[in-house]
Amino acid sequence: MSRRLFAVPAVVTVVALGLSGCSGGAAAGSTSSPGASGGAKIKVVASTDVWGDLAGTVGGEKVEVTSIITSPDADPHEYEANTRNQLALADAAVVLENGGGYDDFMDRMLKSAENTSATVLNAVTISGKKAAGGEELNEHVWYDFPTVAKVVDQIQQAYAKAAPGDASTFQQNAAALKQKIEALTQEEATLKAKYDGQPVAITEPVPVYLLDAVGLQNKTPDEFSEAIEEDTDVPAKVLNETLQLYSRHEVKLLAYNAQTTGPETEKVLTAAKQNNIPVVPVTETLPSGEDYVGWMSANLTAVGAALGQ
Ligand SMILES: [Zn+2]
Repeated sequence: MSRRLFAVPAVVTVVALGLSGCSGGAAAGSTSSPGASGGAKIKVVASTDVWGDLAGTVGGEKVEVTSIITSPDADPHEYEANTRNQLALADAAVVLENGGGYDDFMDRMLKSAENTSATVLNAVTISGKKAAGGEELNEHVWYDFPTVAKVVDQIQQAYAKAAPGDASTFQQNAAALKQKIEALTQEEATLKAKYDGQPVAITEPVPVYLLDAVGLQNKTPDEFSEAIEEDTDVPAKVLNETLQLYSRHEVKLLAYNAQTTGPETEKVLTAAKQNNIPVVPVTETLPSGEDYVGWMSANLTAVGAALGQ
């Protein structure tokens, strides 16, 4: 039930619509204030603050980014868009969505925004990843650094198209960001050299691209993590198998999605703690006060610290 936090009551939506109608009046271009100068910023809408942060880093002062999902306390899979989101999207020059079924509300809103000429970037599509035979594609592609670098390239190109005069700025910003992403990839390789093949566990497939890159083997039964992600019941037998990973000390760490919790994940968390298995908290949106690179760097540090215990 706590997953429904995002649903916005109709009354609030109406108020938000009224407010943005007032403050956004200048957007039509009829009455820009005398003090306004320096050119209009490129308006960008991202489905989550993860993609929004990357979009902001590439654009710097030349862009105005609206991230729709920013709460670290609720499950983004459950998000329901509102009128304010729709208005922001209709006005955007560049739209960033995750794709892969993660944020379908974006596509629904794009369909309703009849006159949008926005460049739409879909991270899963850009990743080029395809679901392997019979398996579902892991849509948490922002934990995959090669994908993130590709998305950064596409953001840069979309901005250059929207504001050709600033193309070199976007190119420099993107290059600096990609250098930091490359450093994260190096860190993964360093950890892999030390910990390749070590067994680990998850509650949800959120960080699996990162764990894979470090060479770690996810021992969690697929039936468990799929049930958690899809919000269905975990069969008792599967839950027991999962809990045994901890009681028998078969895994070196638990990567725990703090944004999708319930009775079963609580049991897993308790089992890990009782058996002194280190817990690495992971999330689907930015922790407050973090940017993308700082967040991922902290994730890698936490994984390394847990494996070193
Ligand atoms: Zn998820």
